[in-house]
Amino acid sequence: MPEDASRLTGGCLCGAVSIEITGPAHVTANCHCLSCQKLSGTGHAFHLMFAEDTVAINGETKGYSWTADSGNEVTTHFCPNCGAPLFGRSSGYPGSITVRAAALDDSSGFSPQVSVYAKRLQNWDATAEGTPAFPEMPPAG
Ligand SMILES: [Zn+2]
Ligand SMILES: [Zn+2]
Repeated sequence: MPEDASRLTGGCLCGAVSIEITGPAHVTANCHCLSCQKLSGTGHAFHLMFAEDTVAINGETKGYSWTADSGNEVTTHFCPNCGAPLFGRSSGYPGSITVRAAALDDSSGFSPQVSVYAKRLQNWDATAEGTPAFPEMPPAG
C-alpha cells in the first residue's frame, strides 16, 4: 500500500521515541543561532513548523527551556536515552510545534524557505543556496 504523502514518520536514534505527522509544514527554516548550534552540534538546525494538532509524539521525551535570542521562551525536547534532538515549542508561535528535519525518516521533500540568524554563520558552515538569509529573524509582516 503506498504511503499517504501527507503522512510523515520519524523518531530518535535509539527508537524509544517516534513521531507521526499528518499535516503540512507551514514554515521551513534553517536557524544558525548559537542555541541551535549547541543543540545540533553543528552549524545550524533545519526546523519544520507544523500545527501542533497534526503532530503525535510517542514515547517519553525530556524538555529543556530557555529564553532564545529572539526573546521567546523556547522548550526543546530530546530523547532521554540517546539524546537526539526531536522537536520544540516557542512562546512566539503558540499552537505550533517545530520538528527537527533530521528527526524524520525522510526529509528529502523539504527545503528551507529562509535562513535565520545568518549573522551567526560559522566559517565552516553555509546558508542554503538560493534561500533568503536574514541576520536575525525576518522583519514581521
Ligand atoms: Zn532515543
Ligand atoms: Zn536557532
